[in-house]
Amino acid sequence: MIKICLAGNPNCGKTTLFNSLTGSTAHVGNWPGVTVEKREGSYRKFDEKIDIVDLPGIYSMSPYTPEEVVSRNYILDEKPNCVINIVDATNLERNLYLTTQLLEIDVPVVVALNMMDILKKNNETIDIKALSEAFKVPVVEISALKDEGLDDLMKVAYGEAKKVRKGTTILEKTTVGSLVREAYNELKTSVSSPLFHAVKLVENDELECKDHPELAKRISDMKSKLPEDDFEGDYEAIIANERYEYIGKNFKHTFVKFNEGLTKSDKIDKVLTHKIWSIPIFLLIMFVVFHFTFSEDFLGLNKIFGLEITSKGWFNFFTGMGYDGAIEEEGEAILSGIPSLGVFLQSWMGFLTGSIIDLFNSFLPEGAWYTSLICDGILTGIDSIFSFIPQVLLLYLFVSILEDSGYMARVAFIMDRAFRKFGLSGKAFIPLLMGFGCSVPAMLATKTLEDEKERDVTIRITPFFSCGAKAPIWTLLAAVVAGRFLGDVFVFSIYILGIAIAIIAAIIMKVFSKNYDVPPFIMELPQYHAPQFKNLMVHLWEKFKHFIYKASTIIMAAIIVIWFLSNFSWDFWNGMVDDIESSILASVGRVVRYIFYPLGFGSGADGWKYTAATFTGLIAKEDVVGTMAQLGLVEGTINLSNAAIYSFAAYNLFTLPCFAAVSTAKSESSKKGFLVTLAWWLALSYIVALIIYWLGTLLEAVLWLGSIVIVVIVLLVILLGFYVSKKKRAQIA
Ligand code: GDP
Ligand code: MG
Repeated sequence: MIKICLAGNPNCGKTTLFNSLTGSTAHVGNWPGVTVEKREGSYRKFDEKIDIVDLPGIYSMSPYTPEEVVSRNYILDEKPNCVINIVDATNLERNLYLTTQLLEIDVPVVVALNMMDILKKNNETIDIKALSEAFKVPVVEISALKDEGLDDLMKVAYGEAKKVRKGTTILEKTTVGSLVREAYNELKTSVSSPLFHAVKLVENDELECKDHPELAKRISDMKSKLPEDDFEGDYEAIIANERYEYIGKNFKHTFVKFNEGLTKSDKIDKVLTHKIWSIPIFLLIMFVVFHFTFSEDFLGLNKIFGLEITSKGWFNFFTGMGYDGAIEEEGEAILSGIPSLGVFLQSWMGFLTGSIIDLFNSFLPEGAWYTSLICDGILTGIDSIFSFIPQVLLLYLFVSILEDSGYMARVAFIMDRAFRKFGLSGKAFIPLLMGFGCSVPAMLATKTLEDEKERDVTIRITPFFSCGAKAPIWTLLAAVVAGRFLGDVFVFSIYILGIAIAIIAAIIMKVFSKNYDVPPFIMELPQYHAPQFKNLMVHLWEKFKHFIYKASTIIMAAIIVIWFLSNFSWDFWNGMVDDIESSILASVGRVVRYIFYPLGFGSGADGWKYTAATFTGLIAKEDVVGTMAQLGLVEGTINLSNAAIYSFAAYNLFTLPCFAAVSTAKSESSKKGFLVTLAWWLALSYIVALIIYWLGTLLEAVLWLGSIVIVVIVLLVILLGFYVSKKKRAQIA
């Protein structure tokens, strides 16, 4: 069997190519760190099956970052038949730096010049003949995104994979040439890829010198006889410099026409990554997304423009609000405006699933236990979650568009700039952004962080980036809030609250730890491009499949258990109870709810229901709404005060995430760090919810005074964090 691996810089298009070749649907992220582990698939267009391996993105073959270790070990130890070196043609110089290192390994290499579609659009070309002659390996032009040139690439790679290739180096004719030759002659009989190891030894690579102490000594003697250099004997720097000089000297002319001016992407970036405006623009973009998904008064047509719509007539039927009016019989109810796309889809989904339940109810015998299990248990639970799916998918679609277009990479860049002021690395922000999808892969992505402490801190705040499974909770609450306030603003504020608390928490944790160096963070910003329809659909489909799987397994199981607990009393052999208040769940809930008394949602007749919902959320966050629906808490029956709704939302956002995320946190954190993390989630969620409830209650009493107090407190906390971190850094320096 033939093994071919894809190696290249972060963001050069490896995963896009991998997905095209193997037909798989690995996540194409716009930031480094998405592929920390290698991923495997197969290419089946030839008679012989070919294994394709997607390696994490790297800038060099040194063994410093986890990505570099994974990629380097794979290429050196697993001996693939061929390495496809993907080169971002729009960023030739930087990418070829890695190429010069790969060429030193004894393995067939094919250079794939990716992103050729962008070059073509800009009327630029690359002299691939010159490149290929200089490196003595085949060079193929492709566009992974547009599926161009891939068959050619695979034909060439397949041919090369059958051959044997000895490493070559561009360092031969440079100042270090004699050193490399000396080391090579010694190593060539004893190790594989002797040239690669020889260069590493000249670079003073720690591992290499330990393996060959005598040779290392000889080389170091030779070095001392060489004339002075500009790098104070730092051979890693000397060699890096030689590589860049070689590339600069030899490949300037490979561009037949090079566009010197600003590209379109650069122009867009002038605005979107502007020092001051970038963050307000980001917030605005996010708000627009939430408005499209959660607003029940689209564009403020009702509140701002005074457009009133009655529930009569075809128009309303189509806006999805029709059936609401129909229930009211008389009609004439004035609706609060034209629903946004998300609310519109949700209404219809609710209508659909509601009808299905009615249908079952109509032919199953009344009062039978299985009617209750099917209708009040399974269908009600699943329905409550299902009816939010259109909105969740829509939200996800918007995020995918932002991601695929290249904007999310800018967000990471903007956040890095902001984080640095507080002594935090922006690299940590990248896994966090993934947390908007699901905490599990986000926590896995913290592998890219070198520092153990930083990893623990990042994992600790990951669930604060509200994941897709929590979205149904916000959606339900938004519908409840809509009668009093704006639903989209409510959901937006929850997301912002999550981010704000995460940032404040990170600052506080940073201030109390001694570690103060912020590692540099290099990131390639990909060119903007229109999102690919295929990519978006693949993302959505994956999300949907994952959801269906979850709903039919773990969520379903939880729903059945909740149904049992809420329909039987402690002497369950006597059959189902008539009144839910005498069920097992109610009796336990009524005791446990005292924990949540101070948070506002544990009190009152329904307090035990919110308590139970919060607990089932530990299994899967979708279960929160599922349980609420089973216990009769839906849009019309939730009668918490605004402050209590907010506190309930905050508690569920910040408390222990679902089991899957907790166990991921366990495997990715340090041992001690994990226990701290658990305590942290429990304590922080409680404190934040408590503050929100009490401040909120105050605010409702004296509205304007309360708002001023909150703004002042937030400002003080930020200033304090800034001040303390500055002082601490000054102390350490
Ligand atoms: P990786 O980090 O190397 O795995 O790179 P990805 O596959 O995640 O791609 C990074 C970004 O480049 C994504 O936004 C892709 O859509 C984009 N991209 C990949 N290949 C091409 C291409 O051939 N042309 C253009 N215009 N964009 C591409
Ligand atoms: Mg990738």
